[in-house]
Amino acid sequence: MTHAPDAASAQPFDLPGWTHTYSGKVRDLFTPDASDAGRALVAEHGDVVLVVASDRVSAYDHVLSPGIPDKGVVLTQLSLWWFDQLADLVPNHVVSTEVPAAVAGRAMICRRLEMFPVECVARGYLTGSGLAEYRVDGHVTGIALPEGLVDGSRLPEPIFTPATKAELGEHDENVPFEAVAEQIGAEAASTLRDLTLAVYARAEQVARGRGVILADTKLEFGTDPVTGAVTLGDEVLTPDSSRFWDAEAWQPGQSQPSFDKQFVRDWLTSDASGWDRAADTPPPALPSDVVERTRARYLEAFERLTGRALATFVAV
Ligand code: ATP
Ligand code: MG
Repeated sequence: MTHAPDAASAQPFDLPGWTHTYSGKVRDLFTPDASDAGRALVAEHGDVVLVVASDRVSAYDHVLSPGIPDKGVVLTQLSLWWFDQLADLVPNHVVSTEVPAAVAGRAMICRRLEMFPVECVARGYLTGSGLAEYRVDGHVTGIALPEGLVDGSRLPEPIFTPATKAELGEHDENVPFEAVAEQIGAEAASTLRDLTLAVYARAEQVARGRGVILADTKLEFGTDPVTGAVTLGDEVLTPDSSRFWDAEAWQPGQSQPSFDKQFVRDWLTSDASGWDRAADTPPPALPSDVVERTRARYLEAFERLTGRALATFVAV
């Protein structure tokens, strides 16, 4: 079921009763056809969208091949688990997991939200684009940080560092809070900041209890057109949207191994791949041991965080 041949292909699934409307780097979105079943769904929940997580893996803004078997299942099941953990903090977009058999485990039916064009990032630790900005002038998206921080340093308190949502193939750009307020209004911007920091605080605590550091995470919110409520959408707190580090191995002053595409990135930038990141050529196919080790990493992240094997959630 989860090893469907097209789970990692650029071609979205062919799902009877659903029309494909959008593909991001990882997810494919579908809307219900005007069948009896489709109309019943909409009558009950308002506009809905089927969000299918594929096995596609991206690095350095390229979608790679082959995909990572079961990655889409891990992302979806982990998101569902987190939505439950966060349910008292923020409403989420999930309506049902009764989805077509071909995408069972990797898909969820969701309320269609009017998405805010903002990547809502919370950081409790300094690394990645935050570190790069800090090294320029000691600020991250306009927030002044103490001197002397290094790669992997814990911040005095978690910060909200939003980014604009880029078109497919473009880089997201970190922006100051004021730019978000200008774009979507001060009230909405404050709501997104408060919710993002509340989600981070909760998730950081949960992960810490499992020996995992949540260094940073990216959330996406939208407005529920029926209730008007700011609602948590997309995926949440997965290895694709977050940096998870092993708390035992954490050592500021160097890059921390993370529970995600580390092996993919390391291999791509190694001599072994023969790929020149600066040249505008597509990366080569991933060797099977990189695929297998990456798959193991995603599964380990899932099991560490939830305390349960993926197979106890869904058949894999
Ligand atoms: P990336 O691969 O970097 O995350 P992406 O965010 O464009 O790029 P995907 O995650 O593959 O791509 O696709 C998911 C898309 O679905 C995103 O554009 C996201 O904003 C959108 N989305 C998620 N939840 C909802 C929802 N409930 N209603 C409408 N759109 C949604
Ligand atoms: Mg996404």
